[in-house]
Amino acid sequence: MKPRDAMYIDGQWQKAAGQDTIAVVNPADEQVIGHVPAGTAQDVDAAVRAARDAFPRWARTLPAERAARIAALRDVLVARKDEIAETVTAELGAPPAFSQAVHAGVPVLVAGSYAELAATYSFEEKIGNSTVFLEPVGVVGAITPWNYPLHQIVAKVAPALAAGCTVVLKPAEDTPLTAQLFAEAVDEAGIPAGVFNLVTGLGPVAGQALAGHEGVDLVSFTGSTAVGRKIGATAGAAVKRVALELGGKSANVILPGADLAKAVNVGIANVMGNSGQTCSAWTRMLVHEDQYDEAVATAAAAVTKYTVGDRVGPLVNAKQQARVRGYIEKGVEEGARLVAGGPEAPLDTGYYVAPTVFADVTPDMTVAQEEIFGPVVCILKYADEDEALRVANGTVYGLAGAVWAADEAEAVAFARRMDTGQVDINGGRFNPLAPFGGYKQSGVGRELGPHGLSEYLQTKSLQF
Ligand code: NAP
Ligand code: MG
Repeated sequence: MKPRDAMYIDGQWQKAAGQDTIAVVNPADEQVIGHVPAGTAQDVDAAVRAARDAFPRWARTLPAERAARIAALRDVLVARKDEIAETVTAELGAPPAFSQAVHAGVPVLVAGSYAELAATYSFEEKIGNSTVFLEPVGVVGAITPWNYPLHQIVAKVAPALAAGCTVVLKPAEDTPLTAQLFAEAVDEAGIPAGVFNLVTGLGPVAGQALAGHEGVDLVSFTGSTAVGRKIGATAGAAVKRVALELGGKSANVILPGADLAKAVNVGIANVMGNSGQTCSAWTRMLVHEDQYDEAVATAAAAVTKYTVGDRVGPLVNAKQQARVRGYIEKGVEEGARLVAGGPEAPLDTGYYVAPTVFADVTPDMTVAQEEIFGPVVCILKYADEDEALRVANGTVYGLAGAVWAADEAEAVAFARRMDTGQVDINGGRFNPLAPFGGYKQSGVGRELGPHGLSEYLQTKSLQF
């Protein structure tokens, strides 16, 4: 059985219960590049049973042994880096250099961090006359999106395995080939049968069956707020744990005195990477009125470096392309001023959207409130810091953000007043150990590092 025709359940590539398949399309040329099984509730059930059977044994393995398996998994991801990058480019459309550095590179860092954490984390603590044991939650149902196909998988599976949980993964229908590669890597790494299981399929069928399955103890979901809300309700009704990593509308706040050119250029790069399909992208740039015209001109110049089909890939599918173009039309309708890009498709073939910059955006506009998920930056104006803060905090989201100032302490003081889970100060570097997750409707729970690990643990206290 070849992986493409099968699902990875109980340590084997197994045929799906039904006949239906999902076509995988390359969004750069719109050609079908493969088919994978469309799993049903029956397949989900088989996978959950395998994960349940494997759980007691995996939960009892020594942390050092789990660490060794995760380290082996990281090594396979390193060895197969080129294949991973090519697969992500083929099914997501990301430019090859971005696929290598980010889509294939970041999961290696994250898997490595959990190999280390599994070995060093303290799964036991003393509180007064109690000993508290941190025990694995059980079977995890992981549902992931297409925008960072491998990262989103590793950010759930690595901490779950480190904690001693077993997993059933339902990846996005648009990027199942990367998920199959990951399952092959798990197998090669010698992770025991049933500890990780893969069911490809459609969200409303396989995803819903997984989220509602009584054999699942924790549902970890990344994706849209609409689906997240539904999954949260299902989990709530069954009194099971849920982690939701949802959308964002993050602010890039440039305070007077900051290095304006750097802040604008880094801000544009932040959105254009992955064609704007990043939940934590700083899609709203906030600039003081005295520097506004200069910032707009700098942004318009910066965006010309992002040539379509080269540095900026297509969007993942025709639906997302239409959705993003619709938002750009809406921005024009509501009175925002286009200084780069626009709604017209820049190429005849492929689901491309022109890198777009809007000036004169006001906080109440649709493009300033809703997650667009495309290469679109909105530049807003503020008169003083209080207004900047009101605008920055003035959406239902709170996932990420950036603050730039002449003085680091000033930037930190502003960041502390932001209702958001992660803020980069004056271009601070990515940290794979920093907790990632949202305030407000950006979600529930945290991923990455020790905070991400604790999501997969529950406490048991013994009194002496
Ligand atoms: P989505 O529908 O929320 O998809 C995320 C995952 O949930 C996919 O695996 C999806 O399967 C699955 N799913 C869909 N409906 C489900 C259901 N009823 N029960 C259980 N699982 C279900 O997101 P999308 O449609 O791919 O993208 C739409 C918008 O979501 C984007 O424009 C963007 O705003 C947002 N988004 C956010 C993130 C993020 O990282 N925060 C990531 C992706 C998208 P299918 O693949 O089969 O649909
Ligand atoms: Mg969907």
